[in-house]
Amino acid sequence: MDIKNVTFAYQDGIVRVKDVSFSIAKGKITTIIGPNGSGKSTLMSLLTNNNKPQSGHIYLEGKDLNEYRPKELAKTLAVVHQYNVAPRDMTVEKLVYYGRLPYKKMFQQDRSEDAEIVQWALKVTGLYERRHMLIENLSGGQQQRAWIAMALAQKTPYLLLDEPTSNLDIYYQYDILNLVKQLRDEQGLTIVMVLHDINQAIQFSDAIIAMKDGEIVAQGDPKEIVTKELMQEVYGVDVVIKEDEDIGMYMVPLGV
Ligand code: ADP
Ligand code: MG
Repeated sequence: MDIKNVTFAYQDGIVRVKDVSFSIAKGKITTIIGPNGSGKSTLMSLLTNNNKPQSGHIYLEGKDLNEYRPKELAKTLAVVHQYNVAPRDMTVEKLVYYGRLPYKKMFQQDRSEDAEIVQWALKVTGLYERRHMLIENLSGGQQQRAWIAMALAQKTPYLLLDEPTSNLDIYYQYDILNLVKQLRDEQGLTIVMVLHDINQAIQFSDAIIAMKDGEIVAQGDPKEIVTKELMQEVYGVDVVIKEDEDIGMYMVPLGV
């Protein structure tokens, strides 16, 4: 995926994404970091064609996003948004079936292929045993996995996850991140996600993009771009960066 000189403002005219350019490597995990309000979700909305750039271009598999028909795009790229609300009385399985919609023709019944893919998505996310439960009765981490399962049922090579670990306890944060890694390694998915935890970003990403006020401040290999200076510039936080021979590089925030 190639993003070239993309600029975007909402109705209020304030530029929220400013002349942003980067490439997303296939089969890798790219993580966007940056303070609240820096434009991460807005950028995600441009990558999914929910909003259109005022200038610049986004190419997916070499083709401009503007040239995709909606169903075609939904077969190429799936997204789990930052905030998700399932309708009441929705079971896990039913939610995951929604992922199959792009493949349906009008009035068509579910095909056996749809059932197989839904079953696969439920198993990959560890929700198969809970498939008849209502979404609202799942724990936060399980709900997050249900949304990911729905996105997986779309069977797309690209998966976008906006803050998939927010509001989860530390066990489920790593549970989700391990799943993301597994999807890259075993399914070859290209993943773009937004994370707040810098150490998790270092640990789980092939590349990091750091945003501030709608602009990209740094991008590249986590080990190269996460520095004391960058953390000060982007977050205004004083940190130390440590290197441990067993766990590699990590960051300790000291204060503001
Ligand atoms: P992040 O995901 O990094 O926290 P967002 O992309 O959600 O940031 O928001 C960036 C800025 O754009 C914020 O100042 C936010 O208030 C504003 N914003 C987000 N969505 C809208 C919208 N639909 N209309 C107007 N402003 C918006
Ligand atoms: Mg956001």
